[in-house]
Amino acid sequence: ERKQLHRLRREPSRTRDGADIKLWANAESLEDVAEAHALGAAGVGLYRTEFLFLQRNEVPDEEEQFRAYRDLVLGMTGRTVTIRTLDLGADKADRTGLALRGEENPALGLRGIRLSLAREALFETQLRAIARASGYGPVRVLLPMISSREEVLAVRKLLLRVARDLRSQGHEIADAIPLGAMIEVPAAAIALPGFIGAIDFLSVGTNDLVQYLLAADRNNEALGELYSPLHPALLRLLYTVIRTARVRGKPAAVCGEMAGDAALAPLLLALGLEEFSLHPATLLEVRQAIRDSDLAQLRARAASLLRARDRKGIEAWVAANVAANP
Ligand code: PEP
Ligand code: MG
Repeated sequence: ERKQLHRLRREPSRTRDGADIKLWANAESLEDVAEAHALGAAGVGLYRTEFLFLQRNEVPDEEEQFRAYRDLVLGMTGRTVTIRTLDLGADKADRTGLALRGEENPALGLRGIRLSLAREALFETQLRAIARASGYGPVRVLLPMISSREEVLAVRKLLLRVARDLRSQGHEIADAIPLGAMIEVPAAAIALPGFIGAIDFLSVGTNDLVQYLLAADRNNEALGELYSPLHPALLRLLYTVIRTARVRGKPAAVCGEMAGDAALAPLLLALGLEEFSLHPATLLEVRQAIRDSDLAQLRARAASLLRARDRKGIEAWVAANVAANP
């Protein structure tokens, strides 16, 4: 079976009825990047920059960050790389002293874009490093934990200033650096029609969206099945987010774990998804599931999926629509 999957490395991620689905890679290391490249990923859909900041006592400076981002860009040889700005918070154990200690509710605290906007000098350093890497290949900037339009506008302003400064200092950077938002706070998903005009693309972080939507800690084993994307509320929200993005002509991906679950590929296709971002380890399985799927048939079954009343109903839909449908 592995061998058969191996043969898919050079095949397109195309459904049986001829629709091309974009498979991006979630990559943290240069090994991930090499693997993503070899498997024919469309690009990197999520590069989590926290990894540069963890397990050390000092914040990496602009040069160090620049070199890491540039190597990532060079590793993808012209395919687009999506760099997510720092998503640190008291829930991630950094030793740099950036994240606040002892927040009572770290998941609801000063994390992600909130921390970055509160530490503007640090954030500006990161944006400078990313913008400089854009001189070496296509780069997009992705913002974690966005909950309002104002946050996006504040970053856009900062990014424009950073780009202007860099150019005046003689750096060569891309003409335009697309700016996107993670949709992982329910408020952002619900208010999306109001601020989608402020972003160039979006990526749904279902790991956190499930946590916040269902009020279920993503790391609490005691919750068992309560923490699951197979909830009617999540599917409805995903469906409307994807539809809003399509109507407004903005690319939309899902980059949470559920995008890497081949069994759920038909469900995501039914909800209208055209871009998946997933760890390279499951990329070929998901490509296989996509190639076994008939997109028109699945979309025609979205209504029955959205009518499912509970987890059991959703699981029954998934079982009845496994790849190789009908
Ligand atoms: C997510 O929340 O789904 C996500 C992709 O980001 P992270 O897992 O890093 O929070
Ligand atoms: Mg997240």
